[in-house]
Amino acid sequence: MKFVRFGAVGSEKPGLIDSDGRVRDLSDKIGDFAGAALDPDRLARLAMIDQEPLPSVDKDVRIGAPVGDIRQLVCVGLNYSDHAAELDMPSPSEPVLFMKSPYSITGPFDDIAIPKGSVKTDWEVELAIVIGRQAENVSRAAAINHIAGFTIINDISERAWQLEGTGQWTKGKSHKGFAPLGPWLVTPDEISDVHGLKIWLDVGNDRMQDGTTKTMIFDVGHLVAFISAHMTLMPGDVIATGTPPGVGSGKKPQRFLKPDEKLRFGIESLGEQLHTMTGG
Ligand code: ZN
Repeated sequence: MKFVRFGAVGSEKPGLIDSDGRVRDLSDKIGDFAGAALDPDRLARLAMIDQEPLPSVDKDVRIGAPVGDIRQLVCVGLNYSDHAAELDMPSPSEPVLFMKSPYSITGPFDDIAIPKGSVKTDWEVELAIVIGRQAENVSRAAAINHIAGFTIINDISERAWQLEGTGQWTKGKSHKGFAPLGPWLVTPDEISDVHGLKIWLDVGNDRMQDGTTKTMIFDVGHLVAFISAHMTLMPGDVIATGTPPGVGSGKKPQRFLKPDEKLRFGIESLGEQLHTMTGG
């Protein structure tokens, strides 16, 4: 099932994508896709309801991030072998973790402002895991029982603020709008192989990233197990699993985002996002 949240920023309502691709309103059935409502058993029950009586929603409605009240946004760095090679970095021996402010999350079609003073705003399309059930020290095999679903995130990064001077990743990656999420929360049963999905990104008409989740170094089960051994994961937490090659800072010459450029990206089976970059 593909779940969505729709409506104005801060007052999104829950919905689903019906068999004709339209958004149907679920607000009589569930408060929000947040916290305990993301339990995989609850989502499975919701997926079985009769869709016909659900009100359909205007097709021009704004789509928001598919999860509300996100408390932790945990990110994995250098998790694609071909991306590590592009940056001339060795593949890490265990997942490289950092945190991104959850207030950087925005909707999948919202404009994204380049922050004031930024000269190196860069892109990173990534598969995102949405946690559905508390996880502490779970095994790789049991990890799937703790996952509500998958979606797309862009780990937008200001490279000067991330890497130059004191080089703090959280500082360079947490600005408002730097984590567009969506368009849908896709439950795991909809995806035959999460490690065999095309993943791509265009700036304007130029294809910048063109990869596959096959080249992830640590797979989804490994990441959930590893992270849950080091911190408590709660329903509604999101894990960004790393980016394939083709980031702007890896190009020769380097290329960064400018106001009015269109940023479009997607993952097979998970949909796509489209943004207009604006001045800060
Ligand atoms: Zn990233």
